[in-house]
Amino acid sequence: MKKALITGVTGQDGAYLSQFLLSKGYEVTGVVRRSSHYGLATQRLEWLGIADKVKLVDGDLLDQGGLVRIIRDSKPDEIYNLAAQSFVKTSWDQPVLTSQVTGVGVVNILEAMRQEAAGARFYQASSSEMYGLIQEEMQSETTPFYPRSPYAVAKLMGHWMTVNYRESFNLFSCSGILFNHESPLRGLEFVTRKVTDAVAAIALKQSTELRMGNMDAKRDWGHARDYVEAMWLMLQQDKADDYVIATGRTVSVRDMVNVAFAHVGLDPDQYVKVDPAFFRPAEVDVLLGNPAKAKRALGWEPKVSMEEMVREMVDADLQRRRSR
Ligand code: NAP
Ligand code: GDP
Repeated sequence: MKKALITGVTGQDGAYLSQFLLSKGYEVTGVVRRSSHYGLATQRLEWLGIADKVKLVDGDLLDQGGLVRIIRDSKPDEIYNLAAQSFVKTSWDQPVLTSQVTGVGVVNILEAMRQEAAGARFYQASSSEMYGLIQEEMQSETTPFYPRSPYAVAKLMGHWMTVNYRESFNLFSCSGILFNHESPLRGLEFVTRKVTDAVAAIALKQSTELRMGNMDAKRDWGHARDYVEAMWLMLQQDKADDYVIATGRTVSVRDMVNVAFAHVGLDPDQYVKVDPAFFRPAEVDVLLGNPAKAKRALGWEPKVSMEEMVREMVDADLQRRRSR
C-alpha cells in the first residue's frame, strides 16, 4: 500500500485529493494545524464522507522540526504540499505571514523531505497567479512570471525552490502551476463560491443583494476534482517536471455571475452592486492557461466546464442553506 502525506488536507484540494488517493488504495496522512475550534477543521473531509479514513497529525508549515518528525514517522512515498495562506486579497493585509507560510513553508517541507525521505516524490501547489501581469496571451510552462500580489511573490519562491531542490539534490519534486479551480468545497471568500452562495441565499429569499469587486477580471476556471488527478499524475511519471493545469478557456467574472443567476432564473442586474471594498491594490486582469504539455505528457484533460461547475456549486449551496 502506497503512503501519501498531504499538507493542507483540510482545504478544498486536500479533501478532493484525499478522496482520490483513498480510491486508489493509498494510506493517507494529513497535516492539520491546531485550532480552538475542535472538530471544525475536518468539515470538508466529512462532506466527502472520508473524515474517518484519513489519518490526521498535528503540524504547521512554519514548524520545521514538526515536519521532520511527521515525515520520519509517516514514511511517505508521496508528499503533496497544498498548505498555504491561499487568499490573494488577504496577502496584502498579511504579507509577512503569507511570505512565511506560502513561500518559506515550502523550503521547510523540502528540507524535511531531504533529511528524512529523499527518495519520496514531492508535489508543490504552485499557482497561475505567478503570471500576474501576463507576458503572453496564453500562459505555458515557459511564459515569464510577473507576480502582482504578496501571495504570488511567495508562490514564486515556492515554485523556484521546488525546481532548485530537484536540480541541486536530485529530489523528485514537481511544481504544478494550477489555474483557478473551484467546487462546492471552495472557501466562501473566493469569487465563485461567494457568488454561488449569494445566489442561493437570494433565491431562498434570505438575502437581497450581492456586493462584488472587479467584474471585468477574467479567469481560466476548472473543477478541483479534475485538478487533483493531475497532481497525482505528475508524481507517477519517470521524471519530475513542472506542468500547467488549466482548461484553455477564459471567462469574465461577469459572465460567471450570469451563469449562476440564470441557473435559478433570476436577473443579476437586480441584485449585483459593485463595491470598491472588493477591489485589489493590484489586479490580475486575465489568466488563460495552455494545458498542452499536461495533455501530451500526462494524458490529462479537464472534464467539467465552468458552466457545469457553477451550476453544481449553486445546487450545493441551495441544499446547504435549505438544510440549515
Ligand atoms: P484552501 O482551501 O485555502 O486550503 C489551504 C490549506 O492550507 C488549509 O488546509 C489550511 O488549513 C492550510 N494551511 C494554511 N496555513 C497553514 C500552516 N501554516 N500550516 C499548515 N497548514 C496550513 O486552498 P485550496 O484551494 O485547497 O488550494 C490548495 C493549494 O493550492 C494552496 O496552496 C493554494 O494556494 C494552491 N492553489 C490553489 C488554486 C485554486 O484555484 N484553488 C490555484 C492554484 C494554486 P486550515 O484549514 O487550518 O486553514
Ligand atoms: P484569485 O484569482 O486567486 O484571486 O481568486 P478569487 O476567486 O479570489 O478572485 C478571482 C477574480 O475575481 C479576481 O480578479 C478578483 O478581483 C475578482 N473579484 C471580483 N469581485 C470579487 C469578490 O467580491 N471577491 C473575490 N474574491 N474576488 C472578486
